[in-house]
Amino acid sequence: MKILVINAGSSSLKFQLIDMDDESVKAKGLVERIGIEGTHFKQTVGDKVIKFTRNMADHTEAITAVLEALTDKENGAIASLDEIGACGHRVLHGGETFKQSALVTEESLKAIEDLIPLGPLHQRPNIAGIKACQAVMPGKPNVAVFDTAFHQTMPPKAFLYAVPYAYYTDYKVRRYGFHGTSHRFIAGETPKYLGKDPKDCKFIICHLGNGSSLSAIVGGKVVDTSMGLTPLEGVVMGTRSGDVDPAVLEYIMDNTGMDIHEMLNTLNKKSGFAGLSVSSDMRDVKAAAAKGDAQAQTAVDIWTYRLQKYIGAYMAAVQGADAIVFTAGIGENDTEACADVIAGFAWMGIKIDPARNVRGACGIISTDDSTVKVLRIPTNEELPIARDTLEIVSRL
Ligand code: AMP
Repeated sequence: MKILVINAGSSSLKFQLIDMDDESVKAKGLVERIGIEGTHFKQTVGDKVIKFTRNMADHTEAITAVLEALTDKENGAIASLDEIGACGHRVLHGGETFKQSALVTEESLKAIEDLIPLGPLHQRPNIAGIKACQAVMPGKPNVAVFDTAFHQTMPPKAFLYAVPYAYYTDYKVRRYGFHGTSHRFIAGETPKYLGKDPKDCKFIICHLGNGSSLSAIVGGKVVDTSMGLTPLEGVVMGTRSGDVDPAVLEYIMDNTGMDIHEMLNTLNKKSGFAGLSVSSDMRDVKAAAAKGDAQAQTAVDIWTYRLQKYIGAYMAAVQGADAIVFTAGIGENDTEACADVIAGFAWMGIKIDPARNVRGACGIISTDDSTVKVLRIPTNEELPIARDTLEIVSRL
């Protein structure tokens, strides 16, 4: 069966067509500037590319374009839409309602819509993607795969904030965690490299991309993760501040006249590397630092130090880790950044092997005598969505 994986953002839509017989990617693409003048479309099928600019008013038009491209006689991937068995959708928030992926029904879609207040910027377009598939491919099953679901195993001591308890009972204010499909994929892969039963493994996953989060895994389950009610909490990211004293918000708002929405927009979109330095991209910040920009170097140092503190905390959360795993854009590509983070743990005998710590390497990158193994594993955020979709539609 072939599964169409959809990741719909407010003005963008990423897609992959995965053949579940061998889990190979048959087609992938991106629609950008949906609802904005000059929508860009790109699909790649092996070395065949379809690329054009044409206005698309909404996600339904974007999905229509995706299906046209997938079935294009010359440069498409399939002969007819009948080859698509089901669609799997990345959905930001499952709240406490969804601890696992779910078939989209009238009832579950209503429950997904009820969670809009917890993440309106992502949840609305995610729902638009589902509704677009329902409109364009009536009768085709849709499955929702939640960014939060994998973290639902966290115990109350990890997920509750120390604020009035009624905020949790009345408003569901708690830590949820995100990047769940990535953490789940890496949590599944890591024990294979450690040569151990997943039930006996304890490790820390560092998903370091433009958005970054850590998770502490014991016996295949999340016991803690760094993002909170929203993806703003945690380590320093490309444009997000990570942890900040909440009193900073009032102080800055009083001084600048910003309202709470502008303030949160600043913390989400104009902070992290982007706020401290020249760009949200680690490569630009490092290039500036290499040219002698001291503030850029400080930004890299803050990023590294905050990560080390989280890893230290998660050593306690898992009560001694077997491994620390790096993944996502920075984790997979910036070997120096990983080495710098681990250098903070030389005192406890964790050591990177420079010969193994090379870009593109997959697996163990620490020395044989390192007290904790360090791994680099490329993530795959689409495959878990396709796997869940297959599993759920196979039961129908
Ligand atoms: P992601 O969100 O996982 O796609 O990661 C994107 C981020 O990865 C970019 O913003 C870069 O900061 C980072 N990145 C990608 N390649 C490199 C590289 N070769 N060196 C350093 N950072 C990189």
